[in-house]
Amino acid sequence: MNNKADYDLVIIGGGPAGLTAGIYASRARLNVLLLEKTAPGGQVLITDWIENYPGFPKGISGYDLVTKMAEQAKHFGLKLETSEVLSFDLSEAVKKIELSDKTITTRSIIVATGASPRKLGVPGEDIFIGKGVSFCATCDGPFFKDNVVAAVGGGDTAVQESIYLTKFAKKVYLIHRRDELRATKILQERAMANDKIEIVWDSVLTGIGGGLTNVEKITVKNLKTGEDKEIPVSGCFIWVGTFPNTSFLKDTLKVDQYGFIIADHNMETSVPGVYAIGDVRNTPLRQVVTAVGDAAIAAVSAEHYIENIK
Ligand code: NAP
Repeated sequence: MNNKADYDLVIIGGGPAGLTAGIYASRARLNVLLLEKTAPGGQVLITDWIENYPGFPKGISGYDLVTKMAEQAKHFGLKLETSEVLSFDLSEAVKKIELSDKTITTRSIIVATGASPRKLGVPGEDIFIGKGVSFCATCDGPFFKDNVVAAVGGGDTAVQESIYLTKFAKKVYLIHRRDELRATKILQERAMANDKIEIVWDSVLTGIGGGLTNVEKITVKNLKTGEDKEIPVSGCFIWVGTFPNTSFLKDTLKVDQYGFIIADHNMETSVPGVYAIGDVRNTPLRQVVTAVGDAAIAAVSAEHYIENIK
């Protein structure tokens, strides 16, 4: 078998996880390439202000944080290419990655393609992202201290995160399209016992409005009565599910019931030499700080794997 490969390691995805893996792998002097579909950044680019990443006492914008990470990776010699991965062949020790214009080979792969929040597609949703519309309570909840906010969804995420939001917000309207929640009973009980949460049953969000820089109100429609209602809020959290960015996987790696890639404590997937890190992994917490931790572990695991097979 031809054991030659173009690269020791190919990292797919240029968010915080991929860039951190790139920093570690470049410093280990691996022959490494990072592939990014558009520009480096990932989901964190849509995070207006990050206050829970250590080292920045007053916080840092998502854009500035990933720009610094990319600079740091390039400083250590990481090669970055803008290219979309279409599929890969993991059947042999030298793995093939099919890109839109060529096929490359590598001994190991780190998948860091992230996840995307499902959107509702209502008017105002896109233009107020980072200005009051959010998909992450841990990231943005503290900005709504003593404010009134809305949350949309009836699953575990929406209910759990709404409870978390009550640590900051003085009131949370939980907008749900049916007359019962999908969330587990214990979460339902906690939400119902929480004085700060008002569930708006049988209702869908129909619009988000406000000024140039911030959300001021939402409109909801009651599906049973047909009544339209305006609710003044300064934030609107949308939790109607997320999906992992894994369209290129095509059954090559084991995933959980929601499609997130299963990895062990070394971040190794069901295929030796292939790692999954950050939001695309079946992780209990999707944060920059956990993504970069995953990345360090995966890069060191990949280094050991490559040393052993060479
Ligand atoms: P989910 O369970 O798929 O729930 C999505 C929620 O959004 C549902 O209530 C759904 O309404 C609603 N929804 C979907 N599309 C909508 C639309 N177009 N308009 C209005 N509402 C819409 O997603 P999730 O809450 O993110 O949870 C994903 C998985 O992770 C779940 O299996 C969950 O158990 C798990 N999880 C577990 C925990 C925990 O154990 N603590 C925490 C978070 C997540 P319907 O109910 O009417 O379909």
